[in-house]
Amino acid sequence: MIPLRIKVEANADQPFVVRLRSFEADAREKLNPFDAALERVGPEGAHYVGEGGPIRILGIDPSKVDGDVLLVNPRRGTADRLIRSSSQHNTFLVTERCDQVCLMCSQPPKKHHVDLFPYFEAAALLAPEGATIGISGGEPTLFKTQLFRFLERVLGARPDLSFHVLTNGQHFGENDRGALSRIDDRGRVVWGIPLYSRDPAIHDEIVGKPGAHAQLLENLALMCRLGAQVELRTVLMRPNADGLPRLARFIASTLPFIRTWAVMQMENIGFGRMNWKTLFYDSSQGFDVLGHSLDLVRSRGIDAWLYNFPLCTVPEAYRHLAPATISDWKRTYREECVGCSLKARCGGFFEWHPRNHGYYSNLGAIQ
Ligand code: SF4
Repeated sequence: MIPLRIKVEANADQPFVVRLRSFEADAREKLNPFDAALERVGPEGAHYVGEGGPIRILGIDPSKVDGDVLLVNPRRGTADRLIRSSSQHNTFLVTERCDQVCLMCSQPPKKHHVDLFPYFEAAALLAPEGATIGISGGEPTLFKTQLFRFLERVLGARPDLSFHVLTNGQHFGENDRGALSRIDDRGRVVWGIPLYSRDPAIHDEIVGKPGAHAQLLENLALMCRLGAQVELRTVLMRPNADGLPRLARFIASTLPFIRTWAVMQMENIGFGRMNWKTLFYDSSQGFDVLGHSLDLVRSRGIDAWLYNFPLCTVPEAYRHLAPATISDWKRTYREECVGCSLKARCGGFFEWHPRNHGYYSNLGAIQ
C-alpha cells in the first residue's frame, strides 16, 4: 500500500507545510518559501533544506515524494502527504466528527476535532497545475464557515484547481446562498451527496438519523436553485438494493439537475466490516436490479456510473460504466487477477476487501 504518512526529522516546534523538491541546485532560485530542496541522500535519510530550515525524510525514496506537499508534525516525527504530486487521489480529511452514523461507514465518527484548515489552504495553493482535490470527513460541513472560506480563497487564488466535496448534505441552508454562489460560480466544486433510498425510513435507518431524508431533499432543492454541481451517491447494500429502480425513477423525474449518479460498492472497513454479513450485496449475482436502474437514469440524459466494482463482476454491456475509482493508495488485486485482460482498466479491490471476496462469479475467469 502507498504510505500516506512518512517518518521525518525537523527542527521546529510547531507543525508546518512544506513541498519537497528533488531537482538540481541551479533551479533553487525558483523555489517558493514553502519549498525545500534535496541536498543529499545517505543511509540516514534524504536531507532537504528550505527557508523553513532543514528536514530529513526517512524510509522512502526521494523520487517517490518529489513535489509532494507535506504537513510535518515535528514532535511526532511524522509527516502526512497532503498532496502526492503523482496522484489523482488527494483528499483532505477535514474532520472526523459527523452527525450521522451510517451502517457501512468506512471512517466511523470521532468526537475529537482539530482545525487544520490553515494547513489545508497552504497545501492546496502548492498543488500541481489543474489538480482536483477531494474534501472528506466525517462531515466537512459541520465546519462550513471555515470550509466555505477555504474554498473561496483557494479557488480565487488558483483558477486551475477544482474540488470534490463529500458531504451528507444535511447542513446547507438559505443563509449559505451567498457563500455557495461565490464558491461555485464556475462549476469547480462538485458536491458528492449520498441518497440511499426513495423510502425515507430506509434512508434514515441506513444513516442512523431520523428526518435525514426529508432534510436532504430540501437541501438538494436548494442546491438545484443555486445551480450547484451535485454527484448523487448510493452505496449498494441489501437494505436498499430492491428499491434501486424506484430510486432511479425518482432521480430521473425529480432530480434531473444532478450531474452524476454513482452507485457504489461497499468498503470492508470501519462499520462496513462490522456489518458486512448483513449489508454486502453481491452484484455479480443480482445485477438486473442495477442494470435496470442505470438504464432508466441514463435514458433521461443523466450520467450514471458504477464506482468500486471489480470489472469481472459486472456484465460486459455495463463495464464501460465502471471506471477504476478506488484510490491508488488503497487499491489491490488478487492472485486471480494475474493475466486478466481487463486489469489495466479495472480498479480491483480495496486493500482490506476480505480474502473470501464475497462475489460469486467470474473472478479470474477473464484471460
Ligand atoms: S480478475 Fe481482477 S483485474 Fe480482472 S476484472 Fe476481475 S478484479 Fe479486475
